[in-house]
Amino acid sequence: MFKKILVCNRGEIALRIMRTCKELGIECVAVHAEADRHSLHVKYADESVCVGKTTSAESYLKVPNLIAAAEITGAEAIHPGYGFLAENAGFAETVIENGFVWIGPQPDTIRSLGDKAAARATAATAGVPIVPGTGILASVEEALAAADEIGYPVLLKASAGGGGKGMRSAANGEELQRAFTTAANEAKSAFGDGRLYLEKYLARPRHVEIQILADSHGNVVHLGERDCSIQRRHQKLVEEAPSPAVSPALRARMGADAVALATLVNYRSAGTVEYLLDEDGSYYFMEMNTRIQVEHPVTEWLTGVDLVREQLLVAAGEPLDFRQEDVTFTGCAIECRVNAEDPSRGFLPGPGKVRDFHAPGGLGVRVDSHLYTGYTVPPYYDSLLAKIIVHGRDRTEAIARMVRALDESVFEGVPTSIPFHLAVLTHPVFQEGQATTRFLEEHGAELLEAMHVRSQTEQA
Ligand code: ADP
Repeated sequence: MFKKILVCNRGEIALRIMRTCKELGIECVAVHAEADRHSLHVKYADESVCVGKTTSAESYLKVPNLIAAAEITGAEAIHPGYGFLAENAGFAETVIENGFVWIGPQPDTIRSLGDKAAARATAATAGVPIVPGTGILASVEEALAAADEIGYPVLLKASAGGGGKGMRSAANGEELQRAFTTAANEAKSAFGDGRLYLEKYLARPRHVEIQILADSHGNVVHLGERDCSIQRRHQKLVEEAPSPAVSPALRARMGADAVALATLVNYRSAGTVEYLLDEDGSYYFMEMNTRIQVEHPVTEWLTGVDLVREQLLVAAGEPLDFRQEDVTFTGCAIECRVNAEDPSRGFLPGPGKVRDFHAPGGLGVRVDSHLYTGYTVPPYYDSLLAKIIVHGRDRTEAIARMVRALDESVFEGVPTSIPFHLAVLTHPVFQEGQATTRFLEEHGAELLEAMHVRSQTEQA
């Protein structure tokens, strides 16, 4: 096992990785921007290196500085976390060329799955169902012809896509014509790659993803699903496991397909196969994420597997020490992503000083957060303040526990998305386990009303 690793990230995920390292007796080097010098991940690490000023581009994305930080501290391996360079095949290659171990899949695997149109073709080869759609579109005429065949509505997607960028739906040819230019331009400016493909736009799907783990000895297992249907602008806000819509038989099929795909691409490390689950029970491959995900704690709680520990062991060449039949699922887990955003003002971000922070506790509550009282949330990075994760014996208990945990949380000085989360958790459609990815569009007004009523009651 490694003696020392470099964690190329910040915030809660840097802390999350370091916590497992401590348990395994691995020393951790933190990197940080000048703006993050008072951050918890810097205080928590055994050593830290400042890699640049404020913006991500001049710090957490600055490859020569990150490599230099690993060199001067004598780290043996590099963990990228999520976001930043986690799915950058070029960075993974540079890490390896400089003699460090990359804690993640091989660069070629990242590259082949990072191109979403190519990944669709690979999934189809592995026998995994894909959403009806196309490969890379050469022109708007080709898009129009394909849409006529598939049937409207359709969704244009950036092949280099991520974070919902370069994605546009169209209900007819006219809309498609306009969306094509907008989506291509958006993709070009976000990823330097304007290539688009097209998919049938499913009316009311759920987002259901399968966690997998693979080692370098050919062992691949899946750890069940997470339901991430509660989204805003294609960004996840609440995740839960198990999915209220997935039976053991469906789980086994979706899991076996995820394992087949991972096996075909010679996958190593933790990864996630994302599917859309349609109302009729059919599911379709969407993409594969080649990193640890924000919502990984819900799976950890159901299975008892520390996913970061497995990433470290696999990167060190160890075989997985359990098999598919050893994986069991206990109870229900839910995660809420608490962001520094004001849901009553269109989720307007509100960085600033946290005057008072109190994390919820008690039975079945886990909080992954880099916050402390007096910490200033910088405006340069993402707005995640904390991930609150709860576990209950069943979904009803987990929901009640999450409401209780959110209620007792204190984040003074910054706006939070908690009022939104409370409105979702107490909404009958969510409580009945019926929410799809259209939940916000369909029930946004009711959620706003619930937030308003709650704030009135609190003031009274
Ligand atoms: P990104 O990589 O940009 O996050 P994804 O391909 O993962 O994009 O899709 C993000 C979200 O967009 C999904 O979780 C789902 O809500 C929605 N979505 C994507 N493809 C479709 C589709 N074909 N039909 C309906 N919704 C879709």
